[in-house]
Amino acid sequence: MEETYSKPASGLSTAEAARRLAKEGPNLLPSERRYLSAILFGTLRQPAFLLLIAASFLYLALGDLHEGLVLMFMVCVTIGVTLFQEGKTEHTLQSLRDLSSPRVLVVRDGQQVRIAGRDLVAGDLMLLAEGDRVAGDAILTATRNLQVDESLLTGESWPLAKRAATPGELDNPKPGAPGGEALPFLWSGTMVVQGEASAKVVATGERSEIGKIGKSLQSMDVGQSPLQQEITRLIRLVAIAAVGFSVLVTAAAAILYGDWLQATLAGIALSMSLLPEEYAVILAVFPAIGAWRLSRAKVLTRRLSAIETLGSVSVLCTDKTGTLTQNRMTVTHAALAGTGAFTLAEMLRRSSLSLKKVAQIASLASKQQPVDPMEKAFHELARETGDVSQTSRADLLLHEYPLTSETKAMCNIWQRNSERMAAAKGAPEAIARLCKLDGDEYLAMQQDIVSLAQQGLRVLAVAEGSMQGTDLPEKMEHIGFSYLGLLGLSDPLRPEIPDAMQQCRAAHIRVIMITGDHPDTAISIAGKAGMSIDGTLTGKEIELLDDAQLRLRIKSANICARITPDQKLRIVQSLKADGEIVGMTGDGVNDAPALKAAHVGIAMGGRGTDVAREAASLVLLDDNFASIVQGIRLGRRIFANMQNAMSYILAIHVPIAGMAFLPVVLGWPLLLFPMHIAFLQLIIDPACSLAFENEPSEHDTMLQPPRSPTAPLFNRPMLLQAFLHGSAAWAMTVTSYYLASKHLPEAQARALGFSVLVLINIALIFSNLSRRRSVLHTIRSANHIPLAVSLTAAAILGFIIYIPGLGGAFGFEPLGAPEFVTVLAIGAASLMFFEATKILFARGMLRAS
Ligand code: ADP
Ligand code: MG
Repeated sequence: MEETYSKPASGLSTAEAARRLAKEGPNLLPSERRYLSAILFGTLRQPAFLLLIAASFLYLALGDLHEGLVLMFMVCVTIGVTLFQEGKTEHTLQSLRDLSSPRVLVVRDGQQVRIAGRDLVAGDLMLLAEGDRVAGDAILTATRNLQVDESLLTGESWPLAKRAATPGELDNPKPGAPGGEALPFLWSGTMVVQGEASAKVVATGERSEIGKIGKSLQSMDVGQSPLQQEITRLIRLVAIAAVGFSVLVTAAAAILYGDWLQATLAGIALSMSLLPEEYAVILAVFPAIGAWRLSRAKVLTRRLSAIETLGSVSVLCTDKTGTLTQNRMTVTHAALAGTGAFTLAEMLRRSSLSLKKVAQIASLASKQQPVDPMEKAFHELARETGDVSQTSRADLLLHEYPLTSETKAMCNIWQRNSERMAAAKGAPEAIARLCKLDGDEYLAMQQDIVSLAQQGLRVLAVAEGSMQGTDLPEKMEHIGFSYLGLLGLSDPLRPEIPDAMQQCRAAHIRVIMITGDHPDTAISIAGKAGMSIDGTLTGKEIELLDDAQLRLRIKSANICARITPDQKLRIVQSLKADGEIVGMTGDGVNDAPALKAAHVGIAMGGRGTDVAREAASLVLLDDNFASIVQGIRLGRRIFANMQNAMSYILAIHVPIAGMAFLPVVLGWPLLLFPMHIAFLQLIIDPACSLAFENEPSEHDTMLQPPRSPTAPLFNRPMLLQAFLHGSAAWAMTVTSYYLASKHLPEAQARALGFSVLVLINIALIFSNLSRRRSVLHTIRSANHIPLAVSLTAAAILGFIIYIPGLGGAFGFEPLGAPEFVTVLAIGAASLMFFEATKILFARGMLRAS
């Protein structure tokens, strides 16, 4: 029977595959990887660097070699830090791209294994099914109803039928150009839209047709989210304003005091301090590292912008089978026509012969090499109850009526000697329809279904049909079937589910179960999962509802059973129309529209099709619902950390810009030259990108309702707090510098003023790490980066001030012990002030909400 389908073309051995991989190289398309040179160029183009470079040339040109060189050195350090950081981001993204590249089912050492697309080599035998992306150019060895979409290569989006190659073609494959009906070739990058096939790979990577074109398959979308776009626009505006303002100040100072060099340096320092390039850093770094964190929680990001949305998901629509349950099926109960439902053991005692028959038909109605755990369970049952192998070896599979979301049943036609028989299995309603059950028979079946489904079992019905003549009916409805019985399969709940459900409830996230299964089974599983059961809605009911009614009904129903994929789409749309932020899981080809429509489409990595994965923004590597909840927690954390980092940036710019500006207009000796700003930048950049990113989530992250997606990144209290902190920092720095310059020489006063600014900066970092926890909490947390950044900065500052010769370029002279203590005291005082106001704001916000 197998001969009609999988001609025993054998695959490679693992050793041979490894050898070929080493020789041919990985199966990768020319990727959109950014090289170091491109990153360097991008960095150098940033206005902040251009300013820094301009300043150092200014020093050099005016003969101040020492200061010019020091500034040049700082330019190099800053570029190094930026390159490291961008390189790391790029590296993270690249490894995520590799992870999200398609996986292929191949035969190695005679076993079916799923390998990464990049490990495919010429000679591999690929097994393809509906929804798969073809990973390499190949020649077909066997096909069944195969149709392929080659639009990626040809631009023509109708599916093409394919056939298996003749032995002659197999020995000497001559693939022409893509496109054209009934050819035995497959091309990398195309999509199987129907049927199944096995195919021998002939070309991979750059040698494949798509590789020659040099087109890359978008495996990861790094496009910007609406929030990112908005902030990018804002950054551009602020940057223009900053430069304009600095030019004005420079001109004014130059005219007032007549010192063009000082005025220009002050102007450059001012514009450096005002340029908001840290925001751009945050926007680039946080989502990228966030995606990496998510991947460790077994959630793969395909669209970076989804990370931000994830934290505001208010409704999660989830599959049942495989996502809430383990998708490990075993037949535990059965109900034979006319006998009622019993456990398998009991059934074996009562009527083992009829059970054997049902088991056999169920396995004959399944794929002969099943991937579906349910079908595996049927084969298992058939093996346990009788010797199938003997009968089926004599049988020949003539035809298959595939499972569709409309028929909810499948049927195989077998030839046994001169006879033909039909074996069907499927959803009980579907089988009842095929068998035209009515009256008492129908009622008895209904009773059995309910009694099995209420125990949380998936119920499938089995039927046998006889065939006259030799022609095959076009539809299986035209075959006369007789009903044999029901099989009940148990599929244990994943152990993490009740806890994950509890977390969703605490986080005010509504969970809706959407399943193709029977309502009673769904309710029973929902109960075991600890879901609150608001109400149920079936596919039949949804059919009768218009969109407005569905919107209303879905508010009070969270168990949706017997749902078809297009109804999933309608459910997403009604929830969206109601202002919900919807996360939706899916695995099948037909789920793609619903996954696209949802705010966060979540595909299954394990059992999902490539079509679903490409439509989704996230892929669950372990198909586990608990991972989604983990992802939401991370999404919320990433957003909160982004907010805190931005608050900090906002606050710290007030004293820096203020100190760059005030001395210029008041005619004081300058405190901040470009190199001072560059120094501060060296603390600020790693602090906001690494220290804030790495901060663990607040203890109550998952006890808060989801953030409204329309809420601005900064609300009013946050803005107020940042400005208050910034202004206080400015006031403290100005006062210290002013008083110091009355009592100390200029260079010492500058050293004192600058040290105060650095310490206040550090205090701001620690205070902003968390919005609700005090610094005493955060300092004990697992995040050691802020401490490392601060200690490094303080140490370097110490070197500059106290090591003779170094301070000169900065205009510093060593501070005495009393001044040193004063600086420490001011730093401590600022920290206390920041903490006190933070607590007040946190309380106020609690009261307001
Ligand atoms: P779920 O949402 O639980 O994954 P599905 O949409 O996969 O449910 O399946 C819906 C229904 O279709 C099942 O309850 C079953 O009745 C029927 N069905 C699923 N797979 C098969 C199969 N391989 N053969 C026959 N019927 C099936
Ligand atoms: Mg399913």
